[in-house]
Amino acid sequence: MFITDSQLLSYQRCPRKAFLDVYGDFREQESPSDFLLKLIKDSSEFRSSIVSNYNYQMPHYPRGNIIAGAKATELLMAAGVDVIYKGVLIIQESAIKSPLQNQIQSDLFLSINFVSYPDLLIKQPGYSRFGDWVYIPTDIKLSKRPKLEYQIVSAFHAKILENIQESLPETAWLILGKKGLYKVNLELRIQQMQESISELIAMLQNSLEPEVFISRQKCNLCAWYSSCHAVAETQKHLSLLPGVTSNRYAVLKSLNLTTLESLSQTNPDDLESYPEFIDGVGIQVVQQAQSVLENKVILRNEKLTGEIDSRILPIAYYLSNKLVNAPVELYFDIEAKPDISLDYLHGVLVVDKRYNTEKFYVNLAENPQDEEQVWYQFLDLVWKYPIAPIYHFCEYEIQTVKRLAKLYQTPAYQWKPLLKRFVDIHQVVTQTITLPIESYALKNIARWLGFEWRNSEANGAQSVCWYEEWLKTGDRSLLDAIVIYNEDDCYATYYIKEWLSKFLRNRIQ
Ligand code: SF4
Repeated sequence: MFITDSQLLSYQRCPRKAFLDVYGDFREQESPSDFLLKLIKDSSEFRSSIVSNYNYQMPHYPRGNIIAGAKATELLMAAGVDVIYKGVLIIQESAIKSPLQNQIQSDLFLSINFVSYPDLLIKQPGYSRFGDWVYIPTDIKLSKRPKLEYQIVSAFHAKILENIQESLPETAWLILGKKGLYKVNLELRIQQMQESISELIAMLQNSLEPEVFISRQKCNLCAWYSSCHAVAETQKHLSLLPGVTSNRYAVLKSLNLTTLESLSQTNPDDLESYPEFIDGVGIQVVQQAQSVLENKVILRNEKLTGEIDSRILPIAYYLSNKLVNAPVELYFDIEAKPDISLDYLHGVLVVDKRYNTEKFYVNLAENPQDEEQVWYQFLDLVWKYPIAPIYHFCEYEIQTVKRLAKLYQTPAYQWKPLLKRFVDIHQVVTQTITLPIESYALKNIARWLGFEWRNSEANGAQSVCWYEEWLKTGDRSLLDAIVIYNEDDCYATYYIKEWLSKFLRNRIQ
């Protein structure tokens, strides 16, 4: 059995992924999205740019023969090469001691090979079985933060290296996208790594399939997403409820609240004694379970009997007034490329209720240098309708207006009054109603209401890939796809706003 650094990395992120990568049916895996391929490519380019600063040597061995790779790496280490790139480290016995080791049958444990591939092995003064030098593992990650999983993998490299060179490196390094060099605290991380390794081995040796838990952040780019989501749907798993995080789910499990039925009948006050459910989260989660179970829209804090809590009414009135029908309404959505802080498209749908017309305006920077120009085009457009409310979905549009105003030193009178005209439809939805959906993202809400995007594959991440591809190839069909997607986002916001204002009017006025 082989236990690799990438399995350990997967296990840190999601034990189920590490399990499925070994035992899952590979036909159920999705092919990687364009966005994931872009991330992989960006990481690889970053790694190459860092590595090019070093005078390194690589082990040469027949492709796929990792035993030969490990031998070639060891020869380079013995020769005292300054920097080794793409080395292979293998130990064929248990050097990864852990508190749980004794619980694992020793004959099985001894048959495990631990394999790791540190990006760089860098020679330092010290003492090892090779001479008066030691090697320090260094990984290169295009990440803003030294994520815990990266540090744990560094500890894994270090422990294997200890066995090979008979000297534990005093540290391990991460070279990060923004932060540069980060020193890993091995003393702290080795213990965590040993615990994870023992759990990982126990899971794989005993074929223990971890429970599914859908978390939008973690599962978003995972190849097993469709397969796991189907399992979660069949089980009506509580992780499909917005607001049920893994920490909150752990509390619910300890209370034996693992079904929609049991959660929906729970008294929220019982939950609110746990820190995970304070500040109204308890009632929100219970109400979410009720909404999904009954497949109906519930006013926030509305009791199951349909009686409306008087405390919520002033808030609901206030928010529903924000959705008042104005003669002209603007719906605004931005497309951005966050990795280079570029906002390249400002789409505005102008709905003129006096003449019953809808017209979409697109302010698009075909080159990143045009960002300032399209920013001012956007301002010119919205000031043609000086009192029209500007509806948008989530905070990004407000943050961007502030960012661009600062960046291009726009006079305050041109942008500050806009902030008062902005109405965040996401905020109004989440503060007034509970919907029987999995997430309060624009797509989930609008689709639940029956709205469909012309290109069902389009999303924000995809539009980043399209724009990048446009810059490289000049293929205008990519820009067209972005514009259609942005226009549909504006229409979806309009669709939700119209539905919500009607719903709130009927329920509370
Ligand atoms: S989809 Fe989510 S739960 Fe399933 S393996 Fe991937 S990360 Fe884990």
